[in-house]
Amino acid sequence: MGAAIGYLPASERLGLHYISTRGTAPRLGFEDVLMTGLARDGGLYVPETWPTFSPTALRALRGLPYAEQAARIMWPFVEGALSREDFAAIVAETYAGFGHAAVAPLKQIDQDLWLLELFHGPTLAFKDYALQLVGRLFEHFLRQRGRRMTVVGATSGDTGSAAIEACRDRAGIEMFILHPQGRTSEVQRRQMTTVASANIHNIALNGSFDDCQDLVKGMFNDEAFRDSLHLSAVNSINWARIMGQTVYYMVAGVALGAPERPVRFAVPTGNFGNVYAAYAASEMGLPVAELVIGSNANDILTRTLESGVMEIGEVSPTLSPSMDIQVSSNFERLVFDLFGREGAAVKAAMEEFRKTGRLDMGQARWEQMRTVFRGHRVDDRETLQTIRAIFAGSGELIDPHTAVGVAAALRDDRAKATGPLVALACAHGAKFPDAVEKATGVRPALPARLADLYEREERMTVLENDLAIVQRFITERVGQMASA
Ligand SMILES: *Cc1c(COP(=O)(O)O)cnc(C)c1O
Repeated sequence: MGAAIGYLPASERLGLHYISTRGTAPRLGFEDVLMTGLARDGGLYVPETWPTFSPTALRALRGLPYAEQAARIMWPFVEGALSREDFAAIVAETYAGFGHAAVAPLKQIDQDLWLLELFHGPTLAFKDYALQLVGRLFEHFLRQRGRRMTVVGATSGDTGSAAIEACRDRAGIEMFILHPQGRTSEVQRRQMTTVASANIHNIALNGSFDDCQDLVKGMFNDEAFRDSLHLSAVNSINWARIMGQTVYYMVAGVALGAPERPVRFAVPTGNFGNVYAAYAASEMGLPVAELVIGSNANDILTRTLESGVMEIGEVSPTLSPSMDIQVSSNFERLVFDLFGREGAAVKAAMEEFRKTGRLDMGQARWEQMRTVFRGHRVDDRETLQTIRAIFAGSGELIDPHTAVGVAAALRDDRAKATGPLVALACAHGAKFPDAVEKATGVRPALPARLADLYEREERMTVLENDLAIVQRFITERVGQMASA
């Protein structure tokens, strides 16, 4: 079957194609979707159809090493873009460096409640699971094409360090990461700013995370800028990030009894990337009984689930800064399905939301959303109480984001649902040591390889919240690197 590939036009090659949630950007294959990030019409790419795993295919995953399951689960998304052998090798290399042999181990903390530990990558948070793969895939395709590219991203904390670790010193990549100045934890900032690689540039923006994200969107919407710098994104709007995150849902679900037994997940949610990956896993055939969203005080998603109306509020700082977000970009991917995959309707809805800060989902879509999703708002006090209670009950030092998800899981009406409930442990406690110490009296230690983080020198540039200023900064740096 492989022999036929070269004789077919690109649009008829094997494998999935991807379409934009706003309906007018070109339909692309995996390589282009990976390299492009945001779609040209301002939408997000999603698979044209969902690949599905039969119960037999799910059962066949059980007991395999994480990397082997990952290669099987993601293969339908990348097929046609690279060989199965190359892909399997890249995936194996990606997870070989993780700090736990199981990569994403499950730990039982209560009757029918499990922690899925997603902090065994280089930056101690779940984003490594997709980004370590994305960095390697970028390098693979750039090398094959003899190209360079400029990666820009906005981060509220974890995405930045995880993206930087994924791309540092990789051939062909120049990377610019914007973070809101003074609004990330010190560990998060230092994990970004102490990387000495010449291809990494940190921008501390005088603004909020949403401002950072708006600037990144602004750069993508400026076609001349985007094309001349070969712009790409690694923040959670990139489809490959979602793809990499579907894996641990499938792996955990199968380990706990899927397809025979449905599973539930509780996910601390900000940009809706992680919980959308759980939704994707359910579309791919994993029996998911319910998805519990944990929100901090920035609770736009929980309010949307309560009222059927999405209404933007002010961003307020909390103990879980990676979720201090009001506009959850990935939510548009769910909106696309709720609107019957009608790009024009999504475009109109998102433009209205952009203009008025308000979007009424309508009764039918609201009900459809609530068949799978639940939402709970968890304030800082309850976050600390939860960290304390889990430490007392199981000895685990969970981080504040994890605690928001666990609190939401504990608050959920479990009498109504069946099956094991998996709460995602999204970061290591040592990334947020102040909150953990405040709750438990115990200060979690950084793993040995990060122990000197507080002594390393920091490098960053503070810039005003102004698209032209940031674009000029990037153009100058890329010019210097290209002529160096
Ligand atoms: C990014 C992040 C989140 C939020 O995930 P989304 O995909 O943005 O919803 C939660 N917790 C931690 C530790 C994170 O790094």
